This record gives sequence, structure tokens and C-alpha cells, in this order.
Amino acid sequence: MDTYPAPSAGLESLAGPIRITKIEAIPFALPYRRAPRFASGTVATADNVLVRVHTDAGFVGQAEAQPRPYTYGETQASIVAAVSGQLSDALTGVNPLRLERVAERCAALEGNYVARGAVDLAVWDVVGQILGCACHLLLGGYAEDVAVTHMVSFAEPAAMAEDAVEVYERLGVKTFKVKVGRAPAVDLAALRAIREALPDAELYVDANRGWSYEDAVRAGDELAELGVRAVEEPISVEDRAGRRRLAGRWTMPLVGDESCISLAHVDRALEEGAVGVVSVKTARTGFTESRRILDLCLARKVAVIVGSQYEGAIGATATLAFAAAFAATAGQPAEIANFLDLADDVVIAPPEIRDGRAAVSAAPGVGIEVDEERLARYRVDR
Ligand SMILES: [Mg+2]
Repeated sequence: MDTYPAPSAGLESLAGPIRITKIEAIPFALPYRRAPRFASGTVATADNVLVRVHTDAGFVGQAEAQPRPYTYGETQASIVAAVSGQLSDALTGVNPLRLERVAERCAALEGNYVARGAVDLAVWDVVGQILGCACHLLLGGYAEDVAVTHMVSFAEPAAMAEDAVEVYERLGVKTFKVKVGRAPAVDLAALRAIREALPDAELYVDANRGWSYEDAVRAGDELAELGVRAVEEPISVEDRAGRRRLAGRWTMPLVGDESCISLAHVDRALEEGAVGVVSVKTARTGFTESRRILDLCLARKVAVIVGSQYEGAIGATATLAFAAAFAATAGQPAEIANFLDLADDVVIAPPEIRDGRAAVSAAPGVGIEVDEERLARYRVDR
């Protein structure tokens, strides 16, 4: 950092001496207060990976990867291998400011969405630090804060309503994504309990492909009567005819999540015609590809939700930066509250949620400060 030239030297000479020296992947496991349970799986501990992009100028970019084997096929071990192996090799020696070269080199590794997404976020973090600029400003800088959505996991219907009420009362959160995809009678009982407890809450649901087509038809009509605004991935992504029939049957749009895990997937889903809203997750498409997805959706006049895969506070901070950066995302609630389900975390200051809103970090980069003591306690590679 001592050789850092004055900004007047111009971007190229400013960035010229700075190179990525390696990418580190640190697996860690955090305990949950309330373990996420949903139709595609249960998460007992947050078996995440801290990604660190090291540079020869002393800047270190950081991001968090959350393995979701049932969605992407990636595990904690596969993410560590991909990040510290092929992705680290591909980016060593690259100037991090050349984000399109970074993207090109990462794209040489097929699949591995979560590993590549986290590396992209960590490179953006380092770019922000080099430039002395917060990432939400580099991306677009539309807003300073966004409204927050909380996800309600599977439990007994009364407990799900209690979860929602607690977050509503304590943090002022008024939008909830409720996990469904069990027997329609159970799902409907949960939605009725939440609606009764919170008559003015905004509700949408996520079945994580858990329903059969018949279940979806049975549940869907009543969900609409309960004021549910949208239905995320009701049935198998492979059942394309069924998805189109559901989209035609309901006034509630289908939200594409597992069907929309990359730019190419979103393009196909929009061609297919069933998806009316796209869930964009920086956890799998980083900032670079998430922005491309957003642009595609803007061109097609398709709404976007900034989604979460139950990130910890590191991931939530990045998601928040993206959500606040664009007009199309800042104006609506983003899924960033679920780090609250963790019993502990490895950051010094998680995003603060007040009156239902979370403010972006003004610090250069994404604005993550890791608590090294807690990281040492929770890392699982030593
Ligand atoms: Mg989902």
C-alpha cells in the first residue's frame, strides 16, 4: 500500500502495479439459532466458505460462499477446491480492476456458480478498496438503503407466524417470503396464521420445487385469496408445460429462482414464458453477472427480486450493496435479513436493520470487517 500512487496518475498507472497474488478459501461452520428448513433441504449449520482475494498491494477482498448441494451440486469442499485451485490459478497475476478479464477467466470453469459468484464479489471488494469507493456506488449508487424481506422457514404454522411477528415487531420488517412446498393443507395453515397475525404484511411464497402440479393448483388459488403476491418455483423446473399452465392459471406471477441461476438460465426461463419475476442472487452470480441479469430483465420489462440463499452477514452485506445500487432493485424489499437466524457470525458489524430497512456500508469496497478471533473459532480447516 506504500507504493500507492496519487489518483491523478490515471487509472492504468494507478492500477498497473496491483496484481492478484492468490485466492484463499477458508471453510467455516456457524451455529444457527433457527436452522433454515425448506422443501429442497435443511441447513443444520452454516457450512460456508470465506473467500479472500490477496493482492501485491496489501488489499484483501472478501466474500462468503454458501454451499447448496441440492440446487447447484456444490459442497463446502468443492467450493474450497474450486476457489483455491482453478480460480486462484486463473486470476493470479491479473489486475483486479480489469473486471471483464476476471469474468472471462472465471467463466472458463463451468458450473461452480457459488464458488465463482463469491470470487467475483471478493474481486469487486478489492476494487472498491483500491479506488477508495464503496461498491454500491461503483455499481450505480442509486440509494443508500433498501427495505428488507425476511424469509420464514418451515415449522409448525403457529411457530412460523411467531417468527414473522417477532421480526415485524422488533425490526419493522413488513415483507415476508414464506417457505411452502409441503402438503398444501400445512402450507395454507401457515399462510393463514401469518396473515391473521399480520394483516398488512406483504407476503410471497417459495415452494423450492416441492409441490406436484396438483398440489400447486390446490394451494395456489387459496394463496391468492390470502393476498400472496407471488409464487417462487412451485414445481419441478423440468416440468415446463406445468409451469406454463400455472403461470396462465394464476394472476400471481411465478418467481424464477432455481430456474434462473445464471444469465443463460434467465434467458431460457424468459423464453419459456412461465417466469414473471426473476430472483437475482449475488451469492451465485456475483455483482458482474447479476448486473447482466438485471439488464436483461430491464430490457424484457421483467421485475427482479434481490434474493438470498440464507447468507451470513458477509453475504448479506454484498447483497445489500447490489440491491441499493440500481433503481430497479432499490425500490423494493430485498432478502437480506436471514443472517439473523445465525447464533453467531464472523463479522464485526453485521448490517443494521431498523424500521424495516438496511443501510449500505459507506466503507470502501463491500464494507466487510472480519473478526479474526471468531473466524479462528469457527473455521474447520485447522
Ligand atoms: Mg427460492
